Amino acid sequence: MRRPLVAGNWKMHGSRDSVGTLLNGLMAQSVPETVDVAVCPTYVHLDQAVAACANSVIAVGAQDCWHAEPGAYTGDVAAVMLKELGCEWVILGHSERRSYHAEADALIAAKLQAAAAAGLKPIVCVGETLDQRESGEAEAVVARQLRGSLEGAVGTAGLVIAYEPVWAIGTGLTASPEQAQQMHAFIRKQLQDLGVDAQQTRILYGGSVKPGNAGELFAQDDIDGALVGGAALKAEDFNAIIAAAG
Ligand code: PEP
Repeated sequence: MRRPLVAGNWKMHGSRDSVGTLLNGLMAQSVPETVDVAVCPTYVHLDQAVAACANSVIAVGAQDCWHAEPGAYTGDVAAVMLKELGCEWVILGHSERRSYHAEADALIAAKLQAAAAAGLKPIVCVGETLDQRESGEAEAVVARQLRGSLEGAVGTAGLVIAYEPVWAIGTGLTASPEQAQQMHAFIRKQLQDLGVDAQQTRILYGGSVKPGNAGELFAQDDIDGALVGGAALKAEDFNAIIAAAG
């Protein structure tokens, strides 16, 4: 059995105050023993989250890392720095990084190598745009992203994939449980073909997950949790999604 993972991607949101309030709200509810939980704040709020989560089962992750060792890379953060800070997870290849920072699969694969070498567990995001889905290319796009982003990733400890259809991120549109299950099963087959331990690898769904739709998504055989954006910013909603995974 794969343990469900619920990870919150806080994107570029938060102040010291609002992050403190959110963390207090998460600490107020106990996490079911069967569920793993992570929160991924901005780089500047990582230390605050690590301190607040120190005595809880909630792990902390970053939203990205750079692929090289510490050096002359202005504005970037090395994976070893995140590990030293107390991060357990790192999100890689989120669609917002693929689109606003033109991140290609080869760069994501290099980041994955750096993350794994530093002892971080990567959450690698894949997903098609609406145009690609409507033109029947969704599976081909996701297969290509997996192949490119996971180059050299066989054996990566704790590897997690997040299927996030771009058309469902922050839009209020969610893939139906059947659509999501179909793609998750496809991803698992691709992982197997790539030589990744597909049965052990958790595949999260992401895209407008809310308390109201989490249960039916988690009930699908190949959905092993969620990567949550907007709803992760409200403790009540995120706690309800965690509870639905338990
Ligand atoms: C995300 O940013 O990874 C995400 C899934 O966002 P939202 O839940 O807001 O759609």
